[in-house]
Amino acid sequence: MRLSRYFMPVLKEDPKEAQIVSHRLMLRAGMIKQQAAGIYSWLPLGFKVLRRIEQIVHEEQARAGHVAMLMPTLQPADLWRESGRYDDYGEEMLRIRDRHKRDLLYGPTNEEMITDIFRGHVNSYKDLPLTLYHIQWKFRDEIRPRFGVMRGREFLMKDGYNFDLTKEDALHAYNRHLVSYLRTYERMGLQAIPMRADGGPIGGDYTHEFLVLAETGESEVFYDSQITDLKFGDRQIDYDDVAQCQAVLEEFTSRYARTDETHDATLFEQIPEERRRQARGIEVGQIFYFGTKYSEPMGATVVGPDGQRVPVHMGSHGIGVSRLLGAIIEASHDDKGIIWPEGVTPFHAGIVNLKQGDASTDGACEALYAELKAQGLDPLYDDRDERAGAKFATMDLIGLPWRITVGPRGLAANKVELTSRRSGESVELSPQEAVARLK
Ligand code: ATP
Ligand code: MG
Ligand code: MG
Ligand code: MG
Repeated sequence: MRLSRYFMPVLKEDPKEAQIVSHRLMLRAGMIKQQAAGIYSWLPLGFKVLRRIEQIVHEEQARAGHVAMLMPTLQPADLWRESGRYDDYGEEMLRIRDRHKRDLLYGPTNEEMITDIFRGHVNSYKDLPLTLYHIQWKFRDEIRPRFGVMRGREFLMKDGYNFDLTKEDALHAYNRHLVSYLRTYERMGLQAIPMRADGGPIGGDYTHEFLVLAETGESEVFYDSQITDLKFGDRQIDYDDVAQCQAVLEEFTSRYARTDETHDATLFEQIPEERRRQARGIEVGQIFYFGTKYSEPMGATVVGPDGQRVPVHMGSHGIGVSRLLGAIIEASHDDKGIIWPEGVTPFHAGIVNLKQGDASTDGACEALYAELKAQGLDPLYDDRDERAGAKFATMDLIGLPWRITVGPRGLAANKVELTSRRSGESVELSPQEAVARLK
Protein backbone atom coordinates (compact mmCIF):
# COMPACT_ATOMS: atom_id res chain seq x y z
CA MET A 1 0.00 0.00 0.00
CA ARG A 2 1.15 3.53 -0.81
CA LEU A 3 0.47 5.88 2.05
CA SER A 4 -0.51 8.63 -0.39
CA ARG A 5 -3.43 6.47 -1.52
CA TYR A 6 -4.33 4.98 1.84
CA PHE A 7 -6.79 6.27 4.39
CA MET A 8 -5.07 6.59 7.73
CA PRO A 9 -6.27 9.74 9.46
CA VAL A 10 -3.48 10.16 12.03
CA LEU A 11 -4.15 12.64 14.83
CA LYS A 12 -1.41 15.03 15.93
CA GLU A 13 -2.95 15.77 19.31
CA ASP A 14 -3.80 13.34 22.05
CA PRO A 15 -7.56 12.82 22.03
CA LYS A 16 -9.03 14.05 25.31
CA GLU A 17 -11.57 11.28 25.66
CA ALA A 18 -8.99 8.48 25.82
CA GLN A 19 -8.08 7.45 29.35
CA ILE A 20 -5.76 4.55 28.55
CA VAL A 21 -2.85 4.19 26.21
CA SER A 22 -4.34 1.63 23.80
CA HIS A 23 -7.42 3.75 23.22
CA ARG A 24 -5.28 6.86 22.73
CA LEU A 25 -2.95 5.13 20.27
CA MET A 26 -5.77 3.53 18.29
CA LEU A 27 -7.38 6.94 17.83
CA ARG A 28 -4.08 8.68 17.09
CA ALA A 29 -3.09 6.05 14.51
CA GLY A 30 -6.43 6.47 12.75
CA MET A 31 -7.53 2.88 13.43
CA ILE A 32 -11.02 3.50 14.77
CA LYS A 33 -13.63 6.18 14.96
CA GLN A 34 -16.30 6.28 17.62
CA GLN A 35 -19.83 6.57 16.19
CA ALA A 36 -21.77 6.37 19.44
CA ALA A 37 -20.87 5.30 22.96
CA GLY A 38 -19.11 1.94 22.63
CA ILE A 39 -19.78 1.70 18.88
CA TYR A 40 -16.90 2.09 16.44
CA SER A 41 -16.10 2.23 12.78
CA TRP A 42 -13.00 0.25 11.95
CA LEU A 43 -10.88 2.43 9.72
CA PRO A 44 -8.54 0.64 7.29
CA LEU A 45 -5.54 0.24 9.60
CA GLY A 46 -7.66 -1.01 12.51
CA PHE A 47 -9.66 -3.25 10.22
CA LYS A 48 -6.47 -4.83 8.90
CA VAL A 49 -5.29 -5.79 12.37
CA LEU A 50 -8.76 -7.03 13.25
CA ARG A 51 -8.67 -9.30 10.18
CA ARG A 52 -5.22 -10.64 11.10
CA ILE A 53 -6.42 -11.49 14.59
CA GLU A 54 -9.48 -13.21 13.14
CA GLN A 55 -7.24 -15.16 10.78
CA ILE A 56 -5.14 -16.52 13.64
CA VAL A 57 -8.30 -17.49 15.49
CA HIS A 58 -9.65 -19.30 12.41
CA GLU A 59 -6.39 -21.15 11.83
CA GLU A 60 -6.13 -22.34 15.41
CA GLN A 61 -9.78 -23.35 15.53
CA ALA A 62 -9.29 -25.40 12.36
CA ARG A 63 -6.21 -27.01 13.88
CA ALA A 64 -8.29 -28.07 16.89
CA GLY A 65 -10.91 -29.61 14.59
CA HIS A 66 -13.61 -27.00 15.15
CA VAL A 67 -16.01 -26.07 12.38
CA ALA A 68 -16.59 -22.47 11.24
CA MET A 69 -20.02 -21.08 10.39
CA LEU A 70 -21.89 -17.78 10.74
CA MET A 71 -25.03 -16.96 12.67
CA PRO A 72 -26.90 -13.65 12.36
CA THR A 73 -26.55 -10.73 14.74
CA LEU A 74 -30.33 -10.50 15.26
CA GLN A 75 -32.05 -13.33 17.06
CA PRO A 76 -35.71 -14.09 17.77
CA ALA A 77 -36.65 -13.51 21.40
CA ASP A 78 -38.62 -16.76 21.47
CA LEU A 79 -35.44 -18.83 21.53
CA TRP A 80 -34.34 -17.00 24.63
CA ARG A 81 -37.75 -17.48 26.21
CA GLU A 82 -37.20 -21.22 25.85
CA SER A 83 -33.98 -21.15 27.82
CA GLY A 84 -35.39 -18.70 30.33
CA ARG A 85 -32.70 -16.12 29.62
CA TYR A 86 -34.89 -13.55 27.86
CA ASP A 87 -35.91 -12.12 31.20
CA ASP A 88 -32.82 -13.14 33.15
CA TYR A 89 -30.23 -11.48 30.92
CA GLY A 90 -31.23 -8.01 32.03
CA GLU A 91 -30.35 -4.56 30.79
CA GLU A 92 -27.29 -5.59 28.79
CA MET A 93 -29.56 -7.13 26.15
CA LEU A 94 -30.63 -4.81 23.34
CA ARG A 95 -34.25 -5.67 22.55
CA ILE A 96 -35.75 -4.75 19.20
CA ARG A 97 -39.29 -4.99 17.81
CA ASP A 98 -39.85 -5.34 14.08
CA ARG A 99 -42.77 -3.95 12.00
CA HIS A 100 -44.80 -7.11 12.66
CA LYS A 101 -44.40 -6.53 16.41
CA ARG A 102 -42.14 -9.53 16.74
CA ASP A 103 -39.53 -9.38 19.47
CA LEU A 104 -35.93 -9.66 18.41
CA LEU A 105 -32.65 -8.99 20.13
CA TYR A 106 -29.14 -8.15 19.03
CA GLY A 107 -27.28 -11.24 20.22
CA PRO A 108 -24.98 -10.83 23.20
CA THR A 109 -23.96 -14.52 22.78
CA ASN A 110 -25.33 -17.53 20.88
CA GLU A 111 -25.99 -20.53 23.15
CA GLU A 112 -29.71 -20.57 22.35
CA MET A 113 -29.35 -20.19 18.60
CA ILE A 114 -26.66 -22.85 18.23
CA THR A 115 -28.69 -25.23 20.39
CA ASP A 116 -31.64 -24.62 18.10
CA ILE A 117 -29.53 -25.39 15.02
CA PHE A 118 -28.18 -28.52 16.65
CA ARG A 119 -31.54 -29.93 17.73
CA GLY A 120 -32.97 -29.39 14.26
CA HIS A 121 -30.32 -31.48 12.52
CA VAL A 122 -28.44 -33.83 14.83
CA ASN A 123 -30.09 -36.96 16.15
CA SER A 124 -27.50 -39.58 16.88
CA TYR A 125 -24.48 -39.88 19.14
CA LYS A 126 -22.68 -41.04 15.99
CA ASP A 127 -22.61 -37.42 14.80
CA LEU A 128 -20.69 -36.39 17.93
CA PRO A 129 -18.33 -34.91 18.96
CA LEU A 130 -19.12 -31.64 17.25
CA THR A 131 -17.79 -28.14 17.86
CA LEU A 132 -19.20 -25.25 15.85
CA TYR A 133 -18.01 -21.68 16.11
CA HIS A 134 -18.34 -18.31 14.46
CA ILE A 135 -16.77 -14.89 14.63
CA GLN A 136 -19.60 -12.40 14.73
CA TRP A 137 -20.53 -9.00 16.13
CA LYS A 138 -22.19 -9.01 19.51
CA PHE A 139 -24.09 -6.29 21.29
CA ARG A 140 -24.15 -5.78 25.02
CA ASP A 141 -25.56 -2.57 26.32
CA GLU A 142 -22.70 -2.11 28.78
CA ILE A 143 -23.53 0.33 31.53
CA ARG A 144 -20.13 1.97 31.15
CA PRO A 145 -18.62 1.42 27.71
CA ARG A 146 -15.06 2.71 27.91
CA PHE A 147 -11.44 2.30 26.99
CA GLY A 148 -12.26 2.22 23.28
CA VAL A 149 -12.66 -1.24 21.82
CA MET A 150 -11.76 -2.78 25.15
CA ARG A 151 -15.29 -2.41 26.48
CA GLY A 152 -17.48 -1.63 23.54
CA ARG A 153 -21.20 -2.16 23.23
CA GLU A 154 -20.86 -3.61 19.74
CA PHE A 155 -17.82 -5.87 19.65
CA LEU A 156 -16.45 -8.81 17.71
CA MET A 157 -16.29 -12.18 19.43
CA LYS A 158 -15.31 -15.65 18.47
CA ASP A 159 -17.77 -17.95 20.19
CA GLY A 160 -17.67 -21.70 19.88
CA TYR A 161 -19.97 -24.40 21.19
CA ASN A 162 -19.21 -28.06 21.77
CA PHE A 163 -21.78 -30.88 21.71
CA ASP A 164 -20.84 -34.18 23.31
CA LEU A 165 -22.55 -37.35 24.44
CA THR A 166 -21.02 -37.48 27.91
CA LYS A 167 -19.62 -35.13 30.49
CA GLU A 168 -16.26 -36.80 30.02
CA ASP A 169 -16.25 -36.03 26.29
CA ALA A 170 -17.37 -32.47 26.93
CA LEU A 171 -14.52 -32.00 29.39
CA HIS A 172 -12.13 -33.11 26.67
CA ALA A 173 -13.65 -30.42 24.44
CA TYR A 174 -13.05 -27.96 27.29
CA ASN A 175 -9.41 -29.00 27.57
CA ARG A 176 -8.99 -28.86 23.79
CA HIS A 177 -10.23 -25.27 23.82
CA LEU A 178 -7.87 -24.35 26.62
CA VAL A 179 -4.93 -25.74 24.65
CA SER A 180 -5.95 -24.08 21.40
CA TYR A 181 -6.43 -20.73 23.16
CA LEU A 182 -2.93 -20.90 24.63
CA ARG A 183 -1.56 -21.30 21.10
CA THR A 184 -3.87 -18.61 19.72
CA TYR A 185 -2.82 -15.90 22.17
CA GLU A 186 0.87 -16.75 21.93
CA ARG A 187 0.73 -16.33 18.15
CA MET A 188 -0.52 -12.80 18.80
CA GLY A 189 2.50 -12.13 20.96
CA LEU A 190 0.48 -12.25 24.16
CA GLN A 191 0.79 -14.10 27.40
CA ALA A 192 -2.79 -14.85 28.43
CA ILE A 193 -2.99 -16.76 31.70
CA PRO A 194 -5.88 -19.17 32.30
CA MET A 195 -7.41 -18.35 35.67
CA ARG A 196 -10.23 -19.97 37.60
CA ALA A 197 -13.28 -17.83 37.18
CA ASP A 198 -16.97 -17.57 37.92
CA GLY A 199 -19.74 -18.80 35.59
CA GLY A 200 -21.81 -15.58 35.50
CA PRO A 201 -24.94 -15.55 33.32
CA ILE A 202 -23.60 -18.28 30.99
CA GLY A 203 -23.57 -20.64 33.99
CA GLY A 204 -21.43 -23.65 34.78
CA ASP A 205 -18.89 -24.87 37.29
CA TYR A 206 -15.95 -25.40 35.00
CA THR A 207 -14.71 -22.15 33.68
CA HIS A 208 -11.42 -20.39 33.08
CA GLU A 209 -10.83 -16.85 31.96
CA PHE A 210 -7.72 -15.92 30.01
CA LEU A 211 -6.09 -12.79 31.35
CA VAL A 212 -3.42 -10.54 29.95
CA LEU A 213 -1.64 -8.79 32.79
CA ALA A 214 -1.91 -5.00 32.45
CA GLU A 215 -2.28 -2.18 34.93
CA THR A 216 -5.27 -0.87 33.02
CA GLY A 217 -7.08 -4.21 33.17
CA GLU A 218 -10.52 -4.21 34.72
CA SER A 219 -10.12 -7.52 36.56
CA GLU A 220 -8.31 -7.98 39.82
CA VAL A 221 -6.21 -11.15 39.76
CA PHE A 222 -4.17 -13.20 42.22
CA TYR A 223 -1.53 -15.64 41.07
CA ASP A 224 1.64 -17.55 41.79
CA SER A 225 4.45 -15.84 39.87
CA GLN A 226 5.68 -19.23 38.64
CA ILE A 227 2.75 -19.34 36.25
CA THR A 228 4.25 -16.58 34.13
CA ASP A 229 7.23 -18.83 33.32
CA LEU A 230 5.03 -21.26 31.40
CA LYS A 231 5.20 -21.06 27.62
CA PHE A 232 3.22 -23.11 25.16
CA GLY A 233 5.77 -22.58 22.40
CA ASP A 234 5.70 -24.70 19.28
CA ARG A 235 4.78 -28.02 20.85
CA GLN A 236 2.88 -30.36 18.59
CA ILE A 237 -0.53 -31.30 19.90
CA ASP A 238 -2.85 -34.05 18.79
CA TYR A 239 -6.16 -32.48 19.68
CA ASP A 240 -7.89 -35.88 19.71
CA ASP A 241 -5.47 -37.14 22.32
CA VAL A 242 -7.42 -36.87 25.57
CA ALA A 243 -4.42 -37.47 27.83
CA GLN A 244 -2.23 -34.97 26.03
CA CYS A 245 -4.81 -32.16 26.25
CA GLN A 246 -5.47 -33.01 29.89
CA ALA A 247 -1.75 -32.82 30.63
CA VAL A 248 -1.50 -29.34 29.11
CA LEU A 249 -4.49 -28.18 31.13
CA GLU A 250 -2.92 -29.55 34.30
CA GLU A 251 0.39 -27.91 33.55
CA PHE A 252 -1.16 -24.51 32.91
CA THR A 253 -3.66 -24.63 35.78
CA SER A 254 -1.56 -26.28 38.47
CA ARG A 255 -0.39 -22.99 39.99
CA TYR A 256 -2.66 -20.64 41.85
CA ALA A 257 -4.25 -18.15 39.43
CA ARG A 258 -7.70 -16.71 40.10
CA THR A 259 -9.79 -13.66 39.48
CA ASP A 260 -11.23 -11.82 42.47
CA GLU A 261 -14.56 -13.63 41.99
CA THR A 262 -13.06 -16.98 42.97
CA HIS A 263 -10.06 -15.78 45.00
CA ASP A 264 -9.45 -17.77 48.18
CA ALA A 265 -7.16 -15.94 50.61
CA THR A 266 -6.41 -19.06 52.64
CA LEU A 267 -5.17 -21.00 49.60
CA PHE A 268 -3.29 -17.98 48.30
CA GLU A 269 -1.38 -17.63 51.56
CA GLN A 270 -0.02 -21.15 51.19
CA ILE A 271 2.14 -19.91 48.31
CA PRO A 272 5.57 -18.65 49.43
CA GLU A 273 5.22 -14.93 49.98
CA GLU A 274 7.79 -13.88 47.40
CA ARG A 275 5.76 -15.63 44.67
CA ARG A 276 2.38 -14.14 45.57
CA ARG A 277 1.18 -11.57 43.07
CA GLN A 278 -1.85 -9.34 43.14
CA ALA A 279 -2.30 -7.48 39.87
CA ARG A 280 -4.73 -6.38 37.23
CA GLY A 281 -5.62 -8.14 34.01
CA ILE A 282 -7.62 -7.85 30.80
CA GLU A 283 -10.05 -10.71 30.13
CA VAL A 284 -9.42 -11.75 26.52
CA GLY A 285 -11.35 -15.00 26.58
CA GLN A 286 -13.30 -17.48 28.64
CA ILE A 287 -14.20 -21.15 28.35
CA PHE A 288 -17.14 -22.90 30.02
CA TYR A 289 -18.50 -26.36 30.47
CA PHE A 290 -22.16 -26.15 31.47
CA GLY A 291 -23.49 -29.64 30.83
CA THR A 292 -27.16 -29.79 29.92
CA LYS A 293 -28.10 -26.27 31.02
CA TYR A 294 -29.39 -25.40 27.52
CA SER A 295 -29.85 -28.81 25.91
CA GLU A 296 -32.34 -29.94 28.54
CA PRO A 297 -34.82 -27.02 28.45
CA MET A 298 -34.45 -26.70 24.67
CA GLY A 299 -34.71 -30.41 23.90
CA ALA A 300 -31.31 -30.87 22.23
CA THR A 301 -31.03 -34.62 22.55
CA VAL A 302 -29.39 -37.48 20.69
CA VAL A 303 -30.05 -41.19 20.61
CA GLY A 304 -27.23 -42.85 22.54
CA PRO A 305 -25.60 -46.26 21.90
CA ASP A 306 -28.30 -47.92 24.03
CA GLY A 307 -31.13 -46.42 21.98
CA GLN A 308 -32.13 -43.96 24.72
CA ARG A 309 -32.47 -40.23 24.01
CA VAL A 310 -30.26 -38.08 26.20
CA PRO A 311 -29.59 -34.33 26.32
CA VAL A 312 -26.14 -33.43 25.01
CA HIS A 313 -23.37 -32.02 27.15
CA MET A 314 -22.28 -28.60 26.04
CA GLY A 315 -19.80 -25.85 26.65
CA SER A 316 -19.12 -22.46 25.16
CA HIS A 317 -15.84 -20.78 24.49
CA GLY A 318 -15.26 -17.12 23.68
CA ILE A 319 -12.41 -14.95 22.49
CA GLY A 320 -12.74 -11.17 22.59
CA VAL A 321 -11.47 -10.55 19.06
CA SER A 322 -11.92 -6.76 18.99
CA ARG A 323 -10.85 -6.36 22.64
CA LEU A 324 -7.60 -8.11 21.71
CA LEU A 325 -6.44 -5.07 19.73
CA GLY A 326 -6.56 -3.02 22.89
CA ALA A 327 -4.96 -5.77 24.96
CA ILE A 328 -2.10 -6.23 22.51
CA ILE A 329 -1.38 -2.50 22.46
CA GLU A 330 -1.56 -2.27 26.27
CA ALA A 331 1.03 -5.05 26.39
CA SER A 332 3.21 -3.75 23.55
CA HIS A 333 3.90 -0.03 23.11
CA ASP A 334 6.33 2.70 24.12
CA ASP A 335 6.12 6.47 24.40
CA LYS A 336 6.30 6.85 20.61
CA GLY A 337 3.46 4.50 19.77
CA ILE A 338 2.38 0.97 19.11
CA ILE A 339 4.83 -1.94 18.69
CA TRP A 340 2.95 -4.66 16.79
CA PRO A 341 3.98 -8.26 17.36
CA GLU A 342 4.86 -9.80 13.98
CA GLY A 343 1.84 -12.11 14.13
CA VAL A 344 -0.74 -9.32 13.96
CA THR A 345 1.01 -6.36 12.37
CA PRO A 346 -1.09 -4.55 9.74
CA PHE A 347 1.92 -4.27 7.38
CA HIS A 348 5.17 -6.17 7.57
CA ALA A 349 7.42 -3.19 6.98
CA GLY A 350 7.30 0.50 6.26
CA ILE A 351 9.39 2.14 3.55
CA VAL A 352 10.36 5.71 4.27
CA ASN A 353 11.47 7.79 1.30
CA LEU A 354 13.66 10.60 2.66
CA LYS A 355 13.65 12.58 -0.56
CA GLN A 356 10.38 12.22 -2.36
CA GLY A 357 10.66 13.53 -5.92
CA ASP A 358 14.35 12.64 -6.27
CA ALA A 359 14.52 10.27 -9.21
CA SER A 360 17.02 7.81 -7.80
CA THR A 361 15.47 7.70 -4.30
CA ASP A 362 12.00 7.29 -5.75
CA GLY A 363 13.29 4.55 -8.07
CA ALA A 364 14.98 2.66 -5.23
CA CYS A 365 11.82 2.88 -3.11
CA GLU A 366 9.64 1.67 -5.96
CA ALA A 367 11.98 -1.27 -6.57
CA LEU A 368 11.99 -2.19 -2.87
CA TYR A 369 8.23 -1.88 -2.69
CA ALA A 370 7.79 -4.15 -5.71
CA GLU A 371 10.34 -6.69 -4.46
CA LEU A 372 8.77 -6.96 -0.99
CA LYS A 373 5.38 -7.54 -2.56
CA ALA A 374 6.87 -10.13 -4.91
CA GLN A 375 8.13 -11.95 -1.80
CA GLY A 376 4.58 -12.16 -0.51
CA LEU A 377 5.11 -9.42 2.08
CA ASP A 378 2.78 -6.51 2.64
CA PRO A 379 4.74 -3.25 2.83
CA LEU A 380 3.49 0.27 3.51
CA TYR A 381 5.37 2.81 1.41
CA ASP A 382 5.39 6.34 2.80
CA ASP A 383 5.55 8.18 -0.52
CA ARG A 384 4.12 11.43 0.79
CA ASP A 385 5.92 14.71 0.31
CA GLU A 386 6.61 15.15 4.03
CA ARG A 387 9.58 15.92 6.28
CA ALA A 388 11.64 12.92 7.38
CA GLY A 389 10.78 13.64 11.02
CA ALA A 390 7.06 13.49 10.32
CA LYS A 391 7.45 10.23 8.40
CA PHE A 392 9.45 8.65 11.22
CA ALA A 393 6.90 9.79 13.81
CA THR A 394 4.08 8.22 11.79
CA MET A 395 5.95 4.94 11.41
CA ASP A 396 6.74 4.86 15.13
CA LEU A 397 3.12 5.62 15.97
CA ILE A 398 1.64 2.87 13.81
CA GLY A 399 4.25 0.42 15.08
CA LEU A 400 5.23 -1.74 12.09
CA PRO A 401 7.98 -4.16 13.18
CA TRP A 402 10.44 -2.94 10.50
CA ARG A 403 11.24 0.34 8.84
CA ILE A 404 13.39 0.65 5.75
CA THR A 405 14.76 4.15 5.33
CA VAL A 406 15.87 5.15 1.87
CA GLY A 407 17.81 8.36 1.22
CA PRO A 408 20.21 9.71 -1.40
CA ARG A 409 23.25 9.59 0.89
CA GLY A 410 22.90 5.89 1.68
CA LEU A 411 21.97 4.99 -1.87
CA ALA A 412 25.25 6.48 -3.12
CA ALA A 413 26.88 3.49 -1.34
CA ASN A 414 23.99 1.14 -2.31
CA LYS A 415 22.73 1.16 1.30
CA VAL A 416 19.38 1.51 2.97
CA GLU A 417 18.72 1.43 6.70
CA LEU A 418 16.70 -1.36 8.32
CA THR A 419 15.36 -0.46 11.76
CA SER A 420 13.62 -2.67 14.26
CA ARG A 421 10.67 -0.91 15.91
CA ARG A 422 11.00 -3.00 19.06
CA SER A 423 14.74 -2.66 19.74
CA GLY A 424 15.31 0.58 17.86
CA GLU A 425 18.47 -0.95 16.37
CA SER A 426 19.43 -0.09 12.80
CA VAL A 427 21.67 -1.77 10.28
CA GLU A 428 22.90 -0.55 6.92
CA LEU A 429 22.28 -3.06 4.16
CA SER A 430 21.95 -3.19 0.43
CA PRO A 431 18.30 -3.14 -0.69
CA GLN A 432 18.60 -6.83 -1.66
CA GLU A 433 19.94 -7.76 1.77
CA ALA A 434 17.15 -5.80 3.45
CA VAL A 435 14.54 -7.76 1.48
CA ALA A 436 16.27 -11.03 2.33
CA ARG A 437 16.18 -10.15 6.06
CA LEU A 438 12.45 -9.59 5.97
CA LYS A 439 11.53 -12.71 4.02
P1 ATP B 1 -16.33 -8.75 30.93
O1 ATP B 1 -16.11 -9.45 32.24
O2 ATP B 1 -15.13 -7.98 30.46
O3 ATP B 1 -17.59 -7.96 30.91
P2 ATP B 1 -17.60 -11.08 29.98
O4 ATP B 1 -17.12 -12.04 30.99
O5 ATP B 1 -18.93 -10.47 30.19
O6 ATP B 1 -16.51 -9.89 29.82
P3 ATP B 1 -17.81 -13.24 28.02
O7 ATP B 1 -19.27 -13.47 28.05
O8 ATP B 1 -16.93 -14.16 28.76
O9 ATP B 1 -17.52 -11.70 28.50
O10 ATP B 1 -17.38 -13.07 26.50
C1 ATP B 1 -16.20 -13.61 25.90
C2 ATP B 1 -15.15 -12.54 25.64
O11 ATP B 1 -15.68 -11.44 24.91
C3 ATP B 1 -14.60 -11.92 26.90
O12 ATP B 1 -13.61 -12.73 27.48
C4 ATP B 1 -14.05 -10.60 26.39
O13 ATP B 1 -12.73 -10.80 25.90
C5 ATP B 1 -14.98 -10.26 25.25
N1 ATP B 1 -15.91 -9.19 25.66
C6 ATP B 1 -16.93 -9.28 26.54
N2 ATP B 1 -17.57 -8.12 26.67
C7 ATP B 1 -16.94 -7.26 25.84
C8 ATP B 1 -17.14 -5.88 25.52
N3 ATP B 1 -18.13 -5.19 26.07
N4 ATP B 1 -16.31 -5.30 24.62
C9 ATP B 1 -15.32 -6.02 24.03
N5 ATP B 1 -15.08 -7.32 24.30
C10 ATP B 1 -15.88 -7.93 25.19
MG1 MG C 1 -19.55 -8.60 30.72
MG1 MG D 1 -15.95 -11.45 32.75
MG1 MG E 1 -16.21 -13.78 30.64
